[in-house]
Amino acid sequence: MIKRLFEVHPWKIRTHLLDQKNKRLQESLTSIGNGYMGMRGNFEEQYSGDTHQGTYIAGVWYPDKTRVGWWKNGYPDYFGKVINATNFIGVDIYVNDRMIDLAKIETEAFELELDMSNGVLTRRFTITQKQAKVRFTFKRFVSIVDRELAIVHVETEVLEGIAAIQLVPKIDGNVTNEDSNYDEMFWEERHRFSGQQSGLTVRTIPNDFSIPQFSVTTVMENQATQVEELLRGESTLLVEEEIAFSLEAGETAELTKYVAVVTSRDIPEEAQTEKAVQLLRAFTEMDFETHLERQTTAWRERWEQADVVIDGDEEAQQGIRFNIFQLFSTYYGEDDRLNVGPKGFTGEKYGGATYWDTEAYIIPMYLALTDEAVTEKLLQYRYKQLPEAFHNAGKQGLQGALYPMVTFTGVECHNEWEITFEEIHRNGSIAYAIYNYTNYTGNEQYLLEKGVDVLVGIARFWADRVHYSATKKQYMIHGVTGPNEYENNVNNNWYTNLIAQWELRYTLETLTKVSKAKQVELEVSDEEKNKWAEIATHMYLPFDDKRQIFVQHDTFLDKDLTPVADLDKHELPLNQNWSWDKILRSCYIKQADVLQGLYYFNDQYSLAEKRRNFDFYEPLTVHESSLSPSIHAILAAEIGEKEKAVELYSRTARLDLDNYNNDTEDGLHITSMSGSWLAIAQGFAGMRTANGKLSFAPFSPENWKSYRFKMNYRGRLLEIAIDAENIAIRLLKGSAIELLVYGENYTVTDTLILAVQERQKSEV
Ligand code: BGC
Repeated sequence: MIKRLFEVHPWKIRTHLLDQKNKRLQESLTSIGNGYMGMRGNFEEQYSGDTHQGTYIAGVWYPDKTRVGWWKNGYPDYFGKVINATNFIGVDIYVNDRMIDLAKIETEAFELELDMSNGVLTRRFTITQKQAKVRFTFKRFVSIVDRELAIVHVETEVLEGIAAIQLVPKIDGNVTNEDSNYDEMFWEERHRFSGQQSGLTVRTIPNDFSIPQFSVTTVMENQATQVEELLRGESTLLVEEEIAFSLEAGETAELTKYVAVVTSRDIPEEAQTEKAVQLLRAFTEMDFETHLERQTTAWRERWEQADVVIDGDEEAQQGIRFNIFQLFSTYYGEDDRLNVGPKGFTGEKYGGATYWDTEAYIIPMYLALTDEAVTEKLLQYRYKQLPEAFHNAGKQGLQGALYPMVTFTGVECHNEWEITFEEIHRNGSIAYAIYNYTNYTGNEQYLLEKGVDVLVGIARFWADRVHYSATKKQYMIHGVTGPNEYENNVNNNWYTNLIAQWELRYTLETLTKVSKAKQVELEVSDEEKNKWAEIATHMYLPFDDKRQIFVQHDTFLDKDLTPVADLDKHELPLNQNWSWDKILRSCYIKQADVLQGLYYFNDQYSLAEKRRNFDFYEPLTVHESSLSPSIHAILAAEIGEKEKAVELYSRTARLDLDNYNNDTEDGLHITSMSGSWLAIAQGFAGMRTANGKLSFAPFSPENWKSYRFKMNYRGRLLEIAIDAENIAIRLLKGSAIELLVYGENYTVTDTLILAVQERQKSEV
C-alpha cells in the first residue's frame, strides 16, 4: 500500500497539510544536505508532537561497543553509529507571550515545500494569538557553495492586530540518538560562548577502541531587521539569543540565522572556534538573497549535467528528480574520506557510512552523471582502506582482503554473523566497480596503479575462502549469505561463486598489463597465479538442467516454490509479518541474487538465458530491499517485459515519495535512489557499455510522451532523447563518437536520429 504525503509536482515536494500523524515521514522526505552535513525536515521551533530530530555531519560517528548475547570469535569490537549532532536550525517563537508549538496551536494556510531545483526548504503558516494574526515564513538551506554554511531565514508578518514577538535562535547540543540502545549521550560540552557570534563546541564521549573523538564547533550570528530587546543566554550544551520586537498589522520583520560548522575531521579542536568565527564573518558579508542566488546557480549547474526530463508522467518526473536531488545532497565527490550512506543525512538507522551499495548501485549512475574524478574518489576510498580489509579477513582467519559490509574506516563494524562472516559477495562488487570505472571511462591508470592492489588482495581472499570438493572435483564456497539476505549459511550461492570466479580472472588479466615495477611490488608468484586460474576454471556454478536456469544455491530448488502472487496479501511485507525463521526457510527472495549476476555480466548471457532466469526468480521475489526493483526493471526491459519494467521503475523512483516499503519515516533509502536513473538509462534506453562500446536499444514507456537524459562518456557529454517514434542522440560536448543502436554501428558527430524499434518479448 502506498502512502503519498506530497503533491505531484515536477520540481517540488509540497504539501498544504500539517500531517501530525505522519510527521516523521514528512520529515524524512524534506531532508536536505550538502555532502558535508544535513538534517531531516524538522521544524525550527519547538514541536511537542511525534517527531524524529536529526542533524548529521558527514564522517562524524561513534564506535558503540558490540553487545550480543552470545559472542562469536570474529565479531567486530564495535558497531559504528551515525550520530545525531548539534541541532543548529532551532529558532523558537513566542507570540504575545505564548510559545508557538504547531502540535498545540491551530494553524492556517500551512505550506511546506522543498524546492529540488536549489535545495531550499520553505515552510509557511499563520497563527492567531490574542487577536493578533501572524504569518511566519521559514526558509533554510545548507550551502553547496560554502559547505560549512547553513542558513535559516525567518520572515514574520503581522496580518491583523499587534503582536509582541520573540524569536529565539539557538544552538543545541542536548541531542541523543533515537535508536541508541543504551540511552547514552554521545556528546559532551567542551566550550561555549556568546556575543555577536555565539558558539558551542562539543566532543564525542571517550570510547574503548582508539577511535579519535570527534569534536564539532557550531557558531551562529543572527541578523534581524527589527530588534527592540536582545538577550543572550547559555547553559550546558546550549547557547541562545532572544530577539524581541513588536509589529503592527502590515509590518514585517526578517531574521537571518547564519551558522558555520567545523569539525575535527578538518580542524583540530583548539583551532575550531577561530576557524568557525572567521568563516562566519565571511558568510555574513553576503545577505540571504545573495547566498540563495549562489546556491541556485550551483544547483543549476548540477542539474544542467544531470537532469532527466520525462514528458507525460509527472509522478515519474518527480520521482527521478527527487532521487537525483537527494543523492547529490548526500555526496558530490568533494571529499574522498566520505561515502554514500544508506540513509545519508536523513536518518540514523543503519550504522556505518559505506556498504556494497556504493559500488553496485551508486557508481554506475555517478559514472554517467558526474565528472570522472567523482567516481575515482569513491574508488580511492576503498584503496585507502585496503589495510583494514586485510585486517577484516585476518579476523576471520583468512588470507587476503575482505572489504566490510558496513564501515566508516574500512574495519568491519557490523555484528550479525550471517552478514559479517557470510555476506562475502560484497568483496566482488568492490572489484567490479574498478572494472566498471575502467571500462566506462577507458582510463586504465587507476586500475594499473592502484586498483590492481585491491584486486590482488581480494583474489587472495577468494583463493583461501574456497575449498576443493574431491567428490565433485570442483571448487566450492560454503557458508555464505548471497545478496538475498532472506537466507543464510547457504552453500554455493551461484552469484557469489560467479563473482569470485570472475574476480580471479580479471585480476590475472590485469596482472598481465601492469608495469614490471608494480609486478615486483605485488609479489604474486607464478604458483599463486596458476592456483587462481585453476580455481576459476573449476569453480562450481550450480545449474538446473531441467529448467535450464542458474540455481541460487545448492538446496534452493528443494524448497516450497509457491510464487509471491499466491501468498495472502496481508502477509506482505514478509519482514513485518513473518518470523525470521519462517522467512529463512522460505523461497522468497529479498532482492536480486542470481539476477544481480546477470545484470553485472550482462553481455555474457543470451536473451533466452536472461528470460528463463527472470521468469523463474522474479515471481519468487518480494523486493523487500529498496535495492531490488531497479535491477529487475533493467532486466525486464531487456527481455521485452515493458509493463513490468515500468511498474518496477515507479517502485524504485517513488519508493520513498510513496513509502512503498512502509519505513521511510526512519529516513530515505539513499543508496537505492540511483536505481531509478539506471532503470531509465539502462532499462528503457537499453544503454550498455560492454567492452568499452556505448550502445542503446531504447523503447518509450506507453504513458510517457518522451524522456531525455544526459550522460558523460569518455570525455563527451551526450543527450539522449526518446519518444514513441524516435531516438535522438546529440553530442553536446567532445569529439565524434562511434556507438551502437539496436546493434548497428553509427558515428555521432552532431545529432543522430533513428526510428525506435518495437521491442519484442524475448523467447525462452
Ligand atoms: C540490503 C543490503 C544493503 C543494505 C544497506 C539491506 O537491506 O539487503 O544489500 O547493503 O540494506 O542498504
